[in-house]
Amino acid sequence: MDKNEIIEILKSENANEIYKKADKIRREHCGNIVHLRALIEFSNFCKKQCLYCGINSKNKNVKRYRLSENEIVETAKQAAKLGFKTIVLQSGEDDFFDTKKMCSIIESIKELNVAITLSIGEKTKEEYKAYKNSGADRYLLRIETTDENLYKKLHPNSDFKNRLNCLYDLKELGFETGTGVMIGLPEQTIESIADDILFFKKLNADMVGLGPFISHCDTELKDSPNGSFELALKALAITRVLMPKINIPATTAMETLLKDGRKIALTSGANVVMPNITPLSAKSNYSIYPHKQSVNANNSLELEKLKNEIEQIGDTISKDFGTSKNFIAQKDL
Ligand code: SAM
Repeated sequence: MDKNEIIEILKSENANEIYKKADKIRREHCGNIVHLRALIEFSNFCKKQCLYCGINSKNKNVKRYRLSENEIVETAKQAAKLGFKTIVLQSGEDDFFDTKKMCSIIESIKELNVAITLSIGEKTKEEYKAYKNSGADRYLLRIETTDENLYKKLHPNSDFKNRLNCLYDLKELGFETGTGVMIGLPEQTIESIADDILFFKKLNADMVGLGPFISHCDTELKDSPNGSFELALKALAITRVLMPKINIPATTAMETLLKDGRKIALTSGANVVMPNITPLSAKSNYSIYPHKQSVNANNSLELEKLKNEIEQIGDTISKDFGTSKNFIAQKDL
């Protein structure tokens, strides 16, 4: 698919064909298997000012929290006991968790025989290297948009080139690397979404997370409309067709915008779900956008419901680490 073909699909009224094709390709290359990741949102302190994000440093209406090192490790233990084979540690860009603290947390969690994914923002190559040496396996860093002008407008105290370099550093250091974008950002064009998708391919990302932008009332983008579920789904399906072996989550933002959004994503190319195991006392304050809908991994009924949903679409839950097949293929070269 070239850029024009991608644009044509993104603009099409009826995209059923691409959804079906993406589902078929996912099943052929990644199996009838869904990987679950336990997500721990361990701090909502953030030094960044991203215009769209509810936990940006300028928002005074959010109650800030940090889990202690002990709370993070105990939460990870609980996840491992529940059978999760991957722990995702996510936070705002919070310098309180310096390299020493992060490495100590990674080392403790690694003892649980789980894969560790970090999603803690832009760091130096040395910091990334230290995380890797401590046992971190994967890193998620969405480029957010590849339109450099739009990126500048949305990220007042950030640099597009630095974010890009971070992704190349992560790849070079041997992380299973994930990126992604938001769909429906103000001033974002269909052409730039096509460029985003081609960028995933150029980077040779191992994981891609795509979700609609959701407007937050305490941010500068409070009057901007939400992104479209359909457009995000089309971008997801096209990404799957172009990158058969990568891992693609059915994102929380998709479930938030549309009831059954997760199920629809899982039958249109996605193969990962990230239930949230953040302690309840903290969870509601990780409010990057309103009405965030995630599976509550602390609740056995919700987990059971998710498992049934996965079985209903003809899938089983993976029992292994769920390493991206794209990553494995490169290692084998
Ligand atoms: N600080 C880390 C970073 O910069 O990668 C990770 C945390 S950040 C809150 C996680 C992701 O949330 C971002 O990459 C962004 O795509 C998404 N996000 C933030 N605000 C959003 C919004 N209003 N709507 C949809 N997604 C949003």
